[in-house]
This record gives sequence, C-alpha cells and structure tokens, in this order.
Amino acid sequence: PFDMLIIGSGPAGASAAIYAARKGLRTGLAGDRFGGQIMDTEGIENFISVTETSGPKLSAALEAHVHQYDVEVISSQRAKELFPAAHPGGMNGVALESGAILHARTVIIATGAHWRHLGVPGEEEYRNKGVAYCPHCDGPFYKGLPVAVAGGGNSGVEAAIDLAGIVSHVTLLQRGSGLKADKVLQDKLRSLPNVTILTEALTTRIEGNGTKVTGLTYRGGDGADHHIDVAGVFVQIGLLPNTDWLRGTVKLNDFGEIIVDSHGATSLPGVFAAGDATTTPFKQIVIAIGDGAKAALSAFDYLIRVPVS
Ligand code: FAD
Repeated sequence: PFDMLIIGSGPAGASAAIYAARKGLRTGLAGDRFGGQIMDTEGIENFISVTETSGPKLSAALEAHVHQYDVEVISSQRAKELFPAAHPGGMNGVALESGAILHARTVIIATGAHWRHLGVPGEEEYRNKGVAYCPHCDGPFYKGLPVAVAGGGNSGVEAAIDLAGIVSHVTLLQRGSGLKADKVLQDKLRSLPNVTILTEALTTRIEGNGTKVTGLTYRGGDGADHHIDVAGVFVQIGLLPNTDWLRGTVKLNDFGEIIVDSHGATSLPGVFAAGDATTTPFKQIVIAIGDGAKAALSAFDYLIRVPVS
C-alpha cells in the first residue's frame, strides 16, 4: 500500500508526487497520460520563469523531474472508482479500469478537466493554429488581430471582454437568442467599442488556409450561412472536470468540480484534490502545480496527525 496515491499525471499530479516523495513517503502516481492537457498545447508563455516553451517539452521536463524521485509511476491506467476509508486513518482503495485495486492511506485526485468542443469541421484541424480554448493562455498571440468567441455564458463573455483589450475586434457568437452571462458582464461587454455580439448564431465551420485559421461560418437566425474573417476562434462552451468516476463518493459542485478547501482537502478525510478537477479558480498550469504541492503537504499533515490503524 501507498502512503500517498495520486490519480492523474498532469501538472498537478506530477507536482504532488514530487512533494510527497520528498517527504520520504511511499508514493504512487497513476494516470492515463503523462502531462495531461499540456500535451495538447503548442506555445506556453506564462509558465513563470520559463519565457517560452511547448506542451510536450514541459511535459517531458515534469516527467524527468518525477523520475528523480522514488515514485511508483503507474502509466496508461485510468481510475474507475474510489473506495473511501471506513474511518480516518484507514485505507482508501482506488479501482483501476484494468481491474487492479490500489490501496493508500491518502489519495490526491488530480484528474484535470477537458474543454467542451464545438464539434464542427475545422476545429480539430486548426487546434493551436487559430482555434483556442484559453484566453489567459493564448490571448496575446492575437494582438491586433480580429477574433471570434463562441459561447455567450459567463466564460464566453469574460473571454470577449479580456480579448477586447488585446485584439483589434471581437465577434461573440451565441447560438441561443440571448447571452447567458451575468448582467454586469453583459453590460461591460456592450460598453466596449470593438465588440460585435451575434445571437442566434450557430458556428458551423472553422475555415483556414491549411496552416492557420482565416475565418468562420455561422448559421444566423435567418437560416442563412454567414462568413466572418477572423484570425482566431476561442471556444468557450464549458470546461468539464474529469470527475464522473467519483460520483457518489467525494462531494462535487453543480459543475462536477471536486469541492476543496484552502488546503486542498475534500469532503472525505484522507482524500485531497488539486488542479483543474477542483473548485480552485482559474485553470492554469502554474496554479495546478501550486495546487498539487499544497494538496501533498496537506496530505502529509494529515498523515502525521492521524492515528495509524
Ligand atoms: P490535466 O492537465 O487535465 O491532467 C489530468 C490528467 O489526469 C490527464 O492526463 C488526464 O488524462 C488524467 N485523467 C483523467 N481522468 C483520469 C482517470 N479516471 N484516471 C487516471 N487519470 C485520469 N495553461 C497555462 O497556464 N498556459 C497555457 O498556455 C495553457 N494552454 C492551454 C492550451 C490548451 C489547448 C489547453 C487544453 C489547456 C491549456 N492550459 C494552459 C491549461 C492547463 O493545461 C491546465 O490548467 C493544466 O494542465 C491543469 O493541470 P491538471 O494537472 O489539473 O489537469
């Protein structure tokens, strides 16, 4: 059995594993894909102290750092069920899809999240070549250029406001008849001179020249197809936490995020969580890495206090 078992080997999980191993704990790190979402990322310019890197490079560096320590890495494995300890200090179980069950006194859940896709032609082809999901990450790449934001909820409208300060023009497309965002955000958006809001505008295709995005087509309320020229399309129709496998065990909020306190503790004693899978605001690499460290230190605190049984 492990002292600390981390599920998910993205930035949060890798960081938790390093912090755990540095405490001399028997540490396991089980995940299906080392690096997590950063493996889908091209340019990274906001990993503080590293001016510029790429997802695969950063992922390889994380992996090499984890391998510096005595961490049992269980790769290409997905967790399918959590069996919480019957009492504080007891053993937790995690069932893997392979059928194996891992036991650990503390568990850190770092299974991350994924962006909901539009599912239209061009979206996959031009991912990282104009199709983006994170305005904090990729906004500056579009300085002075026209972009579109697909999605009229809070995250879409926040993204449009954010981007309007950087790019030349933002077109926000909402497929329904009205924006769903909070009124204060809508008011702010409408006050901006370089924003066009299109409602009943269903994005149907993202177009490009083979190397990058040049525009998009949407079906308007009139039933006709319309084209706009843009250099980027920010898809903001939801970030979905990878927490389905936890339903009925650890407490989740209405979005499916694991509810954590300021120490990364969940509703279950001995079970901690970190990164994009949790209620921690702002889904970013530096935040996930900090969160993983915090959850591991909190789990260590728990281990030195709880009676061993
Ligand atoms: P994740 O990176 O999602 O890792 C979770 C891991 O757990 C994954 O490997 C996942 O497959 C695995 N997993 C899921 N379910 C299970 C299961 N049941 N069992 C086992 N393993 C499981 N952030 C920045 O700061 N800067 C950027 O430039 C940037 N660009 C981005 C570009 C793109 C295209 C995307 C998608 C995201 C970007 N982000 C960026 C966000 C950043 O990647 C995330 O905030 C960060 O990766 C979150 O780390 P995490 O460890 O919490 O989760």
